[in-house]
Amino acid sequence: MSIRSLPTGAAGVGALATTADSQVRPARAWRTFETTHFRFHTPLEFEGWTRSIATRMESVHEAVRVKVGSAPTERIDVVVDDPSNSANGSAYAILDGPALFLWPTPPDPRSGIGKFRNWGELLAVHEFAHLAHLNREPRNKAQQLGRRLFSRPTGPLRGSPRWMTEGYATYIEGVLTGNGRPHSPTRAAILRQWALDGMVPNYTQMSSGAGYNVGGAAYFQGSAFLEWLGARNGDSSITAIFRRQSAVTKRTFVSAFTGVYGEAPATLYSTFVAEQTADAFRLRDQLAAAGIVAGVTVQRLTGGTGDPAISPNDSLIALVVGSAGAPASVRIWRTTLAPRDSAADSAAARRARRAQARDPEDVPAVSSGPAPRVAVHTLSPVMGRGHQDPRWFADGTRLLVWRLEPLADGALRPDLFIWTPKSGALQRVTTGASVRQADPHPDGTRAAAVRCTDGRCDLMLVDLQSGAVSPLVPATDGVTWVRPRWSPDGASIVASRHIDGRWRVSIVDVASGTVRDVSPADNADRYDVSFADSGRAIVYVSEVGGVPNIVTAALSSGAEQSLTRVTSAAYAPVPLKRGRDVLFLHLTSRGLDLHRVSPDSTPVAGPPVMLAAPKDLLARTTADAVRASIAPRGPQAVDSFTVKPLDAERPFTVGPRGYVVSPFGGVAVDGQVIGGQITSTDPIGRLSWSLQGVVGEERRWQGGALRASWRRFPVTINGELFGVGQSLNATTSVDLPAITAALRATNTWHGGSLIASTLRRVGAGALPVRADVALGARLGIATGAFEQRDGGASAPDASGSRQMIFADASVSATVGAARRRTTFSLDAHHGFGSTWGDAWERAVATARVQSAILGPTLRVDASIGKTSNDAPMVERLALGGIAPGLVDDALFSQRVAIDGLPQASAVGTRMTTLRVATPTVLGLELFGLAYQAGDVYGGRLSSLTGVELRTATAAIPYARIPAGSVVSGVTYHLDGALRDRVFGYVGMRFTP
Ligand SMILES: [Zn+2]
Repeated sequence: MSIRSLPTGAAGVGALATTADSQVRPARAWRTFETTHFRFHTPLEFEGWTRSIATRMESVHEAVRVKVGSAPTERIDVVVDDPSNSANGSAYAILDGPALFLWPTPPDPRSGIGKFRNWGELLAVHEFAHLAHLNREPRNKAQQLGRRLFSRPTGPLRGSPRWMTEGYATYIEGVLTGNGRPHSPTRAAILRQWALDGMVPNYTQMSSGAGYNVGGAAYFQGSAFLEWLGARNGDSSITAIFRRQSAVTKRTFVSAFTGVYGEAPATLYSTFVAEQTADAFRLRDQLAAAGIVAGVTVQRLTGGTGDPAISPNDSLIALVVGSAGAPASVRIWRTTLAPRDSAADSAAARRARRAQARDPEDVPAVSSGPAPRVAVHTLSPVMGRGHQDPRWFADGTRLLVWRLEPLADGALRPDLFIWTPKSGALQRVTTGASVRQADPHPDGTRAAAVRCTDGRCDLMLVDLQSGAVSPLVPATDGVTWVRPRWSPDGASIVASRHIDGRWRVSIVDVASGTVRDVSPADNADRYDVSFADSGRAIVYVSEVGGVPNIVTAALSSGAEQSLTRVTSAAYAPVPLKRGRDVLFLHLTSRGLDLHRVSPDSTPVAGPPVMLAAPKDLLARTTADAVRASIAPRGPQAVDSFTVKPLDAERPFTVGPRGYVVSPFGGVAVDGQVIGGQITSTDPIGRLSWSLQGVVGEERRWQGGALRASWRRFPVTINGELFGVGQSLNATTSVDLPAITAALRATNTWHGGSLIASTLRRVGAGALPVRADVALGARLGIATGAFEQRDGGASAPDASGSRQMIFADASVSATVGAARRRTTFSLDAHHGFGSTWGDAWERAVATARVQSAILGPTLRVDASIGKTSNDAPMVERLALGGIAPGLVDDALFSQRVAIDGLPQASAVGTRMTTLRVATPTVLGLELFGLAYQAGDVYGGRLSSLTGVELRTATAAIPYARIPAGSVVSGVTYHLDGALRDRVFGYVGMRFTP
């Protein structure tokens, strides 16, 4: 339920793969704004943007409720944060706790969501439409009962296919804002080209297909299909589906849909596609009659391609080229086919001649477009984060690029780097500056760039020596900038800015800071602008007529001259220094190709073709709906959302609480446990707590614990109050080898702990080696009444206290990208304590390497542990069993959890373990483990092997989902007293 799936350009290709997109940063100072139906929570840095949406949100609520026919019954928490400085948002349709997560960074003009009056308004309408749609309450009695009985219930409409959920939110975004994807030339271009190429996703692919832009089909084609359905049977037919889906009579989506339209959705969709295809050819004929000019193909490409940059002497092209499933690389190509490429060509010709001689019957393949270019230089992603928007320095030997780097709290922000292709050097310019799209000044000392924060992107100057960033023009509310370019004389900058609901080309005089609009006074968007003709002209994308095309305008007259007339879309023009040729990106069904157009030899005849689009906000006939899907209406005037003062605002403290009740259980060789827990969190995870109770067979840890985490500062504070116990003298239903007599007793501990922890991330850009590093530290104390009884002579009764203080440190470094990624980590624990007055000391360390460098992914864990020689028996290292889980693991660091091994299978003051694991089918991990404990290191090793399935979920505080994991597996023991025995286990754990 995001607002965006795949970006249309290269920016962002793969770049998001490394971030946890659900992440919020509770340690910052936050503020809450309340309205009747919403509570907004935001870090102070996004206060302006959040306030502007919050004051309009009641009006959005009313408009969406009327249109959708329902609205959530519960108050909605809206969390604003910016995990990766990109435009997105998500909705969590949970009946008893609906939530929205909004990212303030505005989108690029080329994106379908780049058409807005106000980015926050568009995002809020789309995401709230999801909640109004999907949170419709069930009228079926059994479903109503389920909704009351279960934690985190979802409504009957959650079974809708993705084209319906995303298509409907997109449809509403268009109707209520008069903007967004349904009115954008982007959606029209993608759908038109799919139809012309016979590549329209089929009904199934519309929800779940793969390929360039196909992830966006649910939004683009889904919204277009809904408009067609609305035109066919009336707008209210769409909400009739929802009424049938939530009815007393339970129905599937297909049955609810078919009952309204008389045909199955896949059948009607095929009719729509047929009509859409026919109409796309009518539009193509209209364009062809005027003369299509798309230039020549320089390079055919698939997937996202970034804006090309041409070197100062026109000899080299730098651009970001995507490849399926991998983050994009920056490539440098020769502009003309160079000797090296020709050599490759003639080698291919020789091979073809030899093959022909060998098999004269064979038919040689025809050539399809220019041969793939050989990259002269390549800048690969660092840690899976690709570099973007390469721009040449005037010296022609260096390029300015940006890539995302983690802040210490884990959020990603763009920073600038200077790349010298010849040496391969990559030098960092800024740190945590959040600047992107930087263009170096002709003198090479500074750059123009944009910095996006608080819902807008400002035009900035960056000192390339110091990395200092300063505003170039004062930030103005509601104005956002994109993609600055210097004039050849370095006196001015041309860029596109979003003002009054459209993208205009603007020129900034750098000395005075004055801004001058050079866009004609129509409603078309213009962007992707560069200077041309030694600074006397500009080239850019104009959407006049409804198709993004390349135009040029002389600065003296402002008169526009079209350079292309394409059927799809043309983007990112870059003029060559010599002559009037322009390179640009040409949209296809496969991706963005690099084209070159020569206005002197292939001029565009006549004025821009105006694609005849219907004028109504919503189509009245199916023919109009088909046309609106491939010929954009452009922005439409609709009512603005009215501003209403906030009901309340205050600093965020512990926020509104949400509760989740969940069962808990586990099976292991030592017995079974069952229990339950209640977890509570606020929408940002500032304070979360859990109350857990576990009962079961006596050998297992049982008891109850109240645990809480407070995350307001860079250091997280965890507190626990607990009463736990187990009886290792108890018998089990399974015949197991006897446990060391000295441990055969009942132990209980009633006490508490306090732990301070911190985790800091360091990106590869800040280190001499290319590695992402995470550093963790924890400091804790625990104390309580500890008792031992019923152990007989070998484990005499004892009571008194157990105290401990401990420090944990962890470091983890990841190097290499994609399949060659390798992670090294080291966890060290050191504790001192006293049990019944006897002092002890303990250290446990684990080193881990995970890598696929040898082929299959291998994870190797090696642990070593030591307890002081005179430590009480209960403090000696004991291997086996599932971790107690009720308390922090460090409190029982003597118990080394090995899930498929009975508890205390090996005991001593020294221990070592070595585990090697590799993933197999269905997420199952195959592993082998060798372990040893005794009074010396290196005693006889025992070993076991097994398969394990491990699933873990990160906390999503606004959806009130706690962090948890479930592990299940089977072990087979290879030697010792357990030889040939097989044990299964299931373990769960939740952390507040
Ligand atoms: Zn969505």
